[in-house]
Amino acid sequence: MRLRIEVQGVVQGVGFRPAVYRLATARGLVGSVWNHAQGVTIEAQGPAAELEAFLRDLREDVPPPAQVVQLNAAPIPEQPEAAGFQILASEEGGAIRPVVPPDLALCAACAEETDTPGERRYRYPFTNCTRCGPRYSIIAKLPYDRPQTAMQGFPMCRACAREYADPADRRFHAQPIACPVCGPRLVLQRPDGSTLTEGEPALGEAVAALKAGQVVALKGLGGYQLLVDATSTEAVRRLRDRKRRVEKPFAVMFPDLASLAAACELNEVERSWLGSPEAPILLLRRRPGSQVTEAIAPGNPRLGAFLPYTPLHHLLLAVVDRPLVCTSGNLSDEPMAFEDGEALIRLGSIADVFLAHDRPILRPVDDSVLRVDGDGPTLLRRARGFAPLAVALAGLEEAPTVLAFGAHQKATVSLLHDGQLVMSQHLGDLTSSEGADLLARTVEDLLAFFAVRPQRLACDLHPDYASTRLAERLAVAWNLPLVRVQHHHAHGAACAAEHGLEGPVTALAWDGTGLGDDGTLWGGEALRIEGPTFTRLGHLRPFPLPGGEAAVREPRRSACGLLWALHGAGLPPPTLAPAFDGPDWKLLQTMLTKSLHSPRTSSIGRLFDAVAALVSLHARRGFEGQAAMALEFAAGSRVEPPYPWELDAGVADPSALVAAILADLRAGHDAAFISARFHASLADLALAWAQLSRLPDVVLSGGCFQNERLTELVQAKLSGAGFRVHRHRAFPPNDGCISLGQAVVAARQG
Ligand SMILES: [Zn+2]
Ligand SMILES: [Zn+2]
Repeated sequence: MRLRIEVQGVVQGVGFRPAVYRLATARGLVGSVWNHAQGVTIEAQGPAAELEAFLRDLREDVPPPAQVVQLNAAPIPEQPEAAGFQILASEEGGAIRPVVPPDLALCAACAEETDTPGERRYRYPFTNCTRCGPRYSIIAKLPYDRPQTAMQGFPMCRACAREYADPADRRFHAQPIACPVCGPRLVLQRPDGSTLTEGEPALGEAVAALKAGQVVALKGLGGYQLLVDATSTEAVRRLRDRKRRVEKPFAVMFPDLASLAAACELNEVERSWLGSPEAPILLLRRRPGSQVTEAIAPGNPRLGAFLPYTPLHHLLLAVVDRPLVCTSGNLSDEPMAFEDGEALIRLGSIADVFLAHDRPILRPVDDSVLRVDGDGPTLLRRARGFAPLAVALAGLEEAPTVLAFGAHQKATVSLLHDGQLVMSQHLGDLTSSEGADLLARTVEDLLAFFAVRPQRLACDLHPDYASTRLAERLAVAWNLPLVRVQHHHAHGAACAAEHGLEGPVTALAWDGTGLGDDGTLWGGEALRIEGPTFTRLGHLRPFPLPGGEAAVREPRRSACGLLWALHGAGLPPPTLAPAFDGPDWKLLQTMLTKSLHSPRTSSIGRLFDAVAALVSLHARRGFEGQAAMALEFAAGSRVEPPYPWELDAGVADPSALVAAILADLRAGHDAAFISARFHASLADLALAWAQLSRLPDVVLSGGCFQNERLTELVQAKLSGAGFRVHRHRAFPPNDGCISLGQAVVAARQG
């Protein structure tokens, strides 16, 4: 009997064809396997029982990170002359199914080889195999073969070619393999681009620079990173000054699991994520008294921690033998630098030396960020290790092909085709021209990669987002319909789609701000979502934000707007007064009284800011979300009774809540008490809104649900009342999920 087996999933660049070869020959089957744009095809011939067992092997015994998503087998005519099992050359062209392998962390076998004297690749920083190494960041186009990657300029030496051709070798058909003879080389450069030294000495001098407290720019897997000694307060301050990043937490890379576990609490689930092929940054609970300086993440009980995930990081961290700050190579909110010339220009004033190499990075891929809460992971930034893996979305197999442009911050682009969603890696903010350029490049990149033509485009309602402007331009250029999806509708639709829900569902979409369909800024919304439509069930009563967008980085403005809504012009309460110089407060009051540049918002994110400012936590300046985080952390493990809400036909009045908080402040209560009450009252509000529609499914989305305490309280409250609660797991609750929601809403429209 002979079967033709079509396989889809993560099957290119992950050692899948060699695994097929081994499984087939072990069962005495003859035939062949080859890659093509849609996936992998196998033809296998042998006794029916062996073929049946082979199909089971393919489903169950393919070593990770390969992953069989779909497998279709059909009998074809036998070939009586057939002998042996072959891996055939790839077919070119054809309609492409969106399957591109993500970049994978250094595997244990390669790590050991790198550490073993006498091995060919001893101390070689570009060691990889079929189980590990660069993929998405170096693939120019599909099918994934060496000549179509950034390795095309490195012809294999004879020893590597032998490994590549040997079915018994772990490097059999590993496209990016390299060794000291034929592969990329390290170089240490001055900020002006001149060479200091190359090869092993480059590593040694970079280590010396780090130990001396200098800032090293490292050309990593998906872009340049900035490294400094994480145990030195002075070195960390130097990096903060140069990067213009005042207090936002940095991630820390530890030499090994033991040093990481000494600094952070770690459970089994977190441990397995740290050692996974995705190897994300994990937000872990800090242990007191660790060697990592407080300046890394001031006031934050969590630390972004991860382990070396390339051989270069592995070698560097082993020699430097201390934790290092390892953060994206950019200036504040710009995207990460990934091209050599550009990196020297953009990071030249930040880094003292550049540890680079000659393997090009074809697209930037940031580190992913994940937190394990309660019963599962929450992906807060979806990039390396995850992007651009396709995810099947139930019920959208027949939907038109949609390209969705996302929001403005934490931008992503999504392509929905054949019921499969491919989301780009996290692209960062689109405020800078670099950000907008990266968005346009990523759109081109995705379409070229997957060789599909979208049938419709989707974007946000906000006319000034760089993503909206690009979508509008391309809709005209390509003569395609453009669907404008309200921001919070997209949030709810994204979470519903992640859990296979077509609706109706109640969506609680709580975040900073997004443009509503009535022209005001929304952000504290309860929506009923069904198919491509939504209705607004409930929201906060809008309050004015003096200065509009400026309030994002100045929590005191949100407090000022709420106080004005509560009792008009007056004096700031004593706790808030230090945040204002005399004329400052007057100016904002005048703006509010005259309705000058004071858009109205129903945002719960801004309500968080206001409460944080009232209890004297970060009133004036900071990174977005800092005040809300401080308020969350202030509550500690306190449990206190909620503030009451006044609800009028679904509209909740935040000024009543603010009045109650002012009373608590006057009674001398502290931030911990008020924060605990505030969080509890939001859980009450969630329940009140869910009860308006009485739909059994409730989805939670929006940046506010990055707040672990809030999410747990809302989930417990709603579950306790019999609702099925769904939160984001595989996609971020923040604006990183907007392109997914837009794609789904646009696809469902008639
Ligand atoms: Zn490996
Ligand atoms: Zn070689």
